[in-house]
Amino acid sequence: MGIVVQKYGGSSVADAAGVKRVAQRVVATKKQGHQVVVVVSAMGDTTDELIDLANEVSPLPPARELDMLLTAGERISMAVLAMAIQSLGHEARSFTGSQAGVITDAEHGKAKIIDVTPGRIEEALSQGAIAIVAGFQGVSQTTKDITTLGRGGSDTTAVALAVALKAEVCEIYSDVDGIFTADPRIEPRATKIPRISYEETLEMAAQGAKILHLRCVEYARRYDMPIHVRSSFSDKEGTWVVKAQDVVSEETMEAAIITGVAHDSSQAKITVVGVPDKVGEAAAIFRAVADAQINIDMIVQNVSAAATGLTDISFTLPRGEGQAAMAALSRLQAEVGYERLQYDDSVGKVSIVGAGMSTSPGITARFFEAMSEAGVNIEMISTSEIRVSVVVSEAQIQTAVNAAHGAFNLGTDEIEAVVYGGTGR
Ligand code: ASP
Ligand code: MG
Repeated sequence: MGIVVQKYGGSSVADAAGVKRVAQRVVATKKQGHQVVVVVSAMGDTTDELIDLANEVSPLPPARELDMLLTAGERISMAVLAMAIQSLGHEARSFTGSQAGVITDAEHGKAKIIDVTPGRIEEALSQGAIAIVAGFQGVSQTTKDITTLGRGGSDTTAVALAVALKAEVCEIYSDVDGIFTADPRIEPRATKIPRISYEETLEMAAQGAKILHLRCVEYARRYDMPIHVRSSFSDKEGTWVVKAQDVVSEETMEAAIITGVAHDSSQAKITVVGVPDKVGEAAAIFRAVADAQINIDMIVQNVSAAATGLTDISFTLPRGEGQAAMAALSRLQAEVGYERLQYDDSVGKVSIVGAGMSTSPGITARFFEAMSEAGVNIEMISTSEIRVSVVVSEAQIQTAVNAAHGAFNLGTDEIEAVVYGGTGR
């Protein structure tokens, strides 16, 4: 039997009891004959608490020191888990990201993995030990400083190690039983998806479903590493994230038309009102936003009014970046000559995702009909080959999710979804 990489999130190792429970699980996997590598996140809300602490001592914590501070959270988890496993009579050794050979670029707070050289992990495994690795961190190849991969980055550590070690599977444990057809917190009839493609998972995650770190799915897709998303609080089979060919249903030999509904309630919308309709205006606006390092999402430009030659441009972005975007755009008013800016921070996005929709007509119509029957007003629309998204007011997100979920018969009558822990912070 081969190598299994298991990643446990912060809610699974939130306290001593959680750590002991995880230790039991790890030992059980080892006893089945696998070589086990465990990647851990910081205990509970430790990372948030460390960020709060940094902000208390400094208005703008230096990125290098912030990374050094945050990586301490995962180091606590890895050491206590190794202790708990040893107390069960099994050999376990903990390693920081740097010791585990996670080599990154030098971008503090959002470093990218450029190489994984897990020599010490292989050595530990060959000596019969369980290797425990601190997630979400690495070491820069150029500066030799400690880096972090960005919030939620332990998933990516796990997949990268699984690939480098040629593991059979990367198991990602959290406090839910897998990936659901919608967020069970707002859709009680959500069902567990048994198998889902990398592409659909990427769309779901990008559209706000808090299932897996986007980059970890991209990484897994690139190297075709199967991910098994499951709960550390139960023994149930979770959701397998695999390549598209391995998803097709046995009965129909085709991909499901709609796999799930994702929502994102942390969006904001900016409208630039009264933009002169001439060449280069949109370029100037989005250059200013891009230079402020802001990722925009949907864009809509209205047809300009014939009488005035003015148009409105609206776009959505993460709410946390709204003020920075407004500031960048205000500086542009004289140059672009627009009339005014409008800011709406109470919007959200609801998306349907499914690989089968590219070959089935009428999906968008059915989705919009469901919105209209539920009285949900659609403010903006965007699509990809396997997704349709709408922007709605924040107050209508849950109604929209429930309506879409019902319209595509994704629900079940038995309540399946159990949320075991975590503060969702
Ligand atoms: N502890 C880090 C965070 O909370 C990394 C992770 O959980 O994956 O973002
Ligand atoms: Mg965390």
